[in-house]
Amino acid sequence: MTDPYSPIARLLHHRTQGRRKGEPIALPIVASSTFDQPGDPDGTHFYGRNGNPTVEEVEAELGILEDAQCVLFPSGMAAIASVFSGHLRPGDRVLVHSDGYYNARALLAAQFEPMGVRMETVATADFASADFTGVKLALIETPSNPGLDVCDIAAVAGRAKAAGTILVADNTTATPLCQRPLDLGADVSIMADTKAMAGHSDILAGHVASRNPALIEPVKNWRRLAGALVSPFDAYLLHRGLETLELRVGRANSNALAIATALSGDPRVSGLRYPGLAGDPAHAIARRQMKGYGPIVSFCLKDRATSEAFIARHPLLAAATSFGGVHSSAECRIRWGDAVPEGFIRMACGIEPVGDLVAATLAALDAG
Ligand SMILES: *Cc1c(COP(=O)(O)O)cnc(C)c1O
Repeated sequence: MTDPYSPIARLLHHRTQGRRKGEPIALPIVASSTFDQPGDPDGTHFYGRNGNPTVEEVEAELGILEDAQCVLFPSGMAAIASVFSGHLRPGDRVLVHSDGYYNARALLAAQFEPMGVRMETVATADFASADFTGVKLALIETPSNPGLDVCDIAAVAGRAKAAGTILVADNTTATPLCQRPLDLGADVSIMADTKAMAGHSDILAGHVASRNPALIEPVKNWRRLAGALVSPFDAYLLHRGLETLELRVGRANSNALAIATALSGDPRVSGLRYPGLAGDPAHAIARRQMKGYGPIVSFCLKDRATSEAFIARHPLLAAATSFGGVHSSAECRIRWGDAVPEGFIRMACGIEPVGDLVAATLAALDAG
């Protein structure tokens, strides 16, 4: 089934056409490390590190969302590691966001710089004017996390292409429903499926998507050789999350916009960022390239103690890291050493009814 149906309709029904009478409607979990394979290999399954039917079904679903070939990993970082490992060699220069997910930089510093890869960092908001000359690979993250700056993916992709740079976009904050980096010219899209894609804070997973076989092949090869395979059970939970992705993302995004709107102009709140707010510095670019603005709202209260107390007394906020789950959560990012003010809160909206979430947030502020 292809056009005219939406990716979500095709995802939900991608097994419908080929299904025979008596076969299960729900995706079977094939828990087997080895497969019947007498004689010479014939291209069918033979060992779990080389392929698992459940994992392949979920990769097909991700492929429908991304309109690209997808390779699934047991975490977002394993997906990022596969791209670095598959494509970076000694002497290569890599440009990476200075304000996005910090473990991407930590991985380059720990494993790749000692092997002769040169890392340079660029703020997300400056990527569209960065110099890509001689750069092998660039990693952008837009909206960035936790600061929620954005960069113009099409503009960055134009410069990267001209310089022969592989442009990799971490699309975790947006999801492929709200932003399609590959349509905008990125070569590779990466997701931490741990977040909104799986969506229930119960597994880690990640994937790499690309329309260029020459870029995806080394990623697949690395996965097979390094053994970074997701289990069929976790793949199933990701599949289960994907089936409700549109509903959850829609609610979480509208919750985030409602929270940002309720907080904007409040004298107790400073540094409010949400790319969906008309007054946000990122809004003009975000509106051009995004269909929804994600679940995360960032803002500051007076100081760390005030922010911790706000989170503690808010009845609908789990005091937890991560985002994209069904439960709203929040944390003071200073605790991880992010370059943010003491009172900086990253609030990740879940799927609670919007009226409850806004009322509880304002009540928690009022009680401060
Ligand atoms: C969480 C996250 C990752 C890493 O994903 P894990 O599944 O935790 O390894 C990468 N990028 C972004 C933007 C993230 O939020």
